[in-house]
Amino acid sequence: MVAIRRAVRVTGVVQGVGFRPYVYALARELDLSGHVGNDVHGVFIEVQGDGVEEFLARLPADAPPLSVIEDITVAEVEPQVESGFRIVESAGSQSGEVTSIPPDTAVCEDCLRELRDPDDRRFGYPFIACTNCGPRYTMVTGLPYDRANTSMADFPLCAACEAEYTDPGSRRYHAQPTACWECGPQLSMPVAAVVAALNQGQIVAIKGIGGYHLACDGLDSEAVDRLRRRKQRGDKPFAVMVADVSAAERIAVLDSASRELLASPARPVLLLPSRDAGLQGHVAPGNSFIGVMLAYTPLHHLLFDAGAPAVLVMTSGNVSDEPICIDVQESQMRLGAIADVFCHHDRVIQVACDDSVFRVIGEVPQPVRRSRGYTPSPISLPRSCPPMIAVGGEIKATAAVASGRRAWLTGHIGDVENLETLQMLERSVGVLADLERVMPEAVVSDAHPGYMSRTWAARYATDNGIDHIEIQHHHAHLASLMAEHGVDEPVLGMVFDGTGYGVDGTIWGGEILLGGYDGVQRVGHLKPVSLPGGDAAVRFPSRVALAHLFAAGVDPNGTAAAQSTDLRLVQQMLRTGSHCTPTTSMGRLFDAVASLLDVRQAVDYEAQAAIELEALAVGAADPWTAQVEWDGDDLVIDPAGWIRAAVDSHRRLVPVAWAARAFHAGVAQAVVVAACAVRDREGVGTVGLTGGVFANAVLTRDCVAGLTAAGFKVLVHRIVPPNDGGLALGQVMVAGAGS
Ligand code: ZN
Ligand code: ZN
Ligand code: FE
Repeated sequence: MVAIRRAVRVTGVVQGVGFRPYVYALARELDLSGHVGNDVHGVFIEVQGDGVEEFLARLPADAPPLSVIEDITVAEVEPQVESGFRIVESAGSQSGEVTSIPPDTAVCEDCLRELRDPDDRRFGYPFIACTNCGPRYTMVTGLPYDRANTSMADFPLCAACEAEYTDPGSRRYHAQPTACWECGPQLSMPVAAVVAALNQGQIVAIKGIGGYHLACDGLDSEAVDRLRRRKQRGDKPFAVMVADVSAAERIAVLDSASRELLASPARPVLLLPSRDAGLQGHVAPGNSFIGVMLAYTPLHHLLFDAGAPAVLVMTSGNVSDEPICIDVQESQMRLGAIADVFCHHDRVIQVACDDSVFRVIGEVPQPVRRSRGYTPSPISLPRSCPPMIAVGGEIKATAAVASGRRAWLTGHIGDVENLETLQMLERSVGVLADLERVMPEAVVSDAHPGYMSRTWAARYATDNGIDHIEIQHHHAHLASLMAEHGVDEPVLGMVFDGTGYGVDGTIWGGEILLGGYDGVQRVGHLKPVSLPGGDAAVRFPSRVALAHLFAAGVDPNGTAAAQSTDLRLVQQMLRTGSHCTPTTSMGRLFDAVASLLDVRQAVDYEAQAAIELEALAVGAADPWTAQVEWDGDDLVIDPAGWIRAAVDSHRRLVPVAWAARAFHAGVAQAVVVAACAVRDREGVGTVGLTGGVFANAVLTRDCVAGLTAAGFKVLVHRIVPPNDGGLALGQVMVAGAGS
């Protein structure tokens, strides 16, 4: 009988996830000979024997939980004289498409059991990990993914760990983070001391997987306020951490989708309706949602097991807008004035990776920030694109590296408005390009002349002799939404956000765009108003409200906005047009309405007024109407009706909840009317909702319901955020289409 031998190649997320031991076990079970190994392309296998067909059938079906198989290719090869199945050494660097590094993953159930087992040799060990869990992306220094190319290279395995590491039957076989009390990383202080500090109301800087957290007792309002003051946080919400799902249920309202996401290996922060008004009041004031995550490192579990406060504030270890700290010295320098106590460890974090943030809108999880647990999982692209990097926008920046049919996004970088965040951008994009072996032929940025990221891209292009491509902000938003859905046909995009540089040099943000990667037509927009002070008005909803009152021809006297700003000065600016920039921003419209309903006149953080307005919008109310009309080829949404309704509601003491609800419903109604108007002329069937304004769950739900009822297919974000954190993905798609 002629022996059958096949060479098999598997690509995708197949390294660092227990793929080789899985292949080994399967081959042995089927009595096959041959070998398996890792190289920079993924996993290579040769199998020989009668069970080869069954092997090939079962290979993808039973693959390890953390693996993501992209492709399996099979070739016939000459049978050989051999016996047994072996795991062979990793092959070194080669060129071509490479494998993907897995994201960092929450400690698994098996490790957690050992962590709590007094008879286990890793009992209470804060860095317990295995092939199914632990850090990955944040400790990798190069490819192939082997211990020598990770932060674990600093920790030679002890004999006991070595035995597990080299035993194909062990859960720790070639698990790079494998370590124990004997040989692995250590904390700088005992867990009991951290718990004691937290219980005394102290602020503890805790080094984690992708950076430092600042932690304190979430139920101790004094401690939380102190952290807020020291961090110069204003009223910006903090995320909290609890031990498990049942602890989360005590402080927030969960549905099945949120329970599942909360406990998933990525363990994101989830924005959930709050149950505890007291906790809400100091952790996330003015907000109806609370950001909750579950313990995800062994240390987090040890803290709760040892009696840490049941609700811990866990916020990024940074100062206001700077990036998250990742190393010991830097943390002491930058967080020294904030933290009372530092709990370091000696495993080097190679690249920062903040916690991810999601919210669930009608059972569908939507990312607000895609970072730890997701970075650097590749996103499949509907079109092939040349090797390039994209730097995103300015706020909530996230960069991307793309090549062929894949794009990889960095973790959350922050607002690129200072040198520190710019350096983090540079580092994150460099690490990712190295890991994925992408040699960029172009660098893509936003077109805004004032963005530091754009300036950086221009210099990077010059330094490296490659092209610099600028992509219009809202076009990139629409392309990112289409790309994550794998769509490659014209879509009608409702692109609503706070600020984006328009092709006419004004501030856009209420855009109706029709098209795709190759180009878009601006078929409509919110009617422009003149913004006194331009982008600086972002901090003062009252100013934006005056701009809208002026445009709508409404007397500002007696309005909530007029009482909290220098009315005469602003009116003077509006009349003369000096220091005024026209804007079609939908985000600013939400600010204006929040001001007129006297929800908020000045903000501490981006979109605060809109977030608080959304929080108030409960129950049901008839939509406020606004005019949506063609002006030639230009479909214009005139917000004057909404502005008059807001002034009127405030004057007549209509409950704010009702007014806020009616406004949201009104914007959704205008979206549906606009979509139908464009369909009548252009025959488009798919509407995409993107831009930071669609982080608003009330608005998104209303729009999806209305558009669906009107017969449209509706696209909303599920993989990348609707805000500027998703921009880089769209930038590569549009730049790729043009080259
Ligand atoms: Zn594990
Ligand atoms: Zn050990
Ligand atoms: Fe934007």
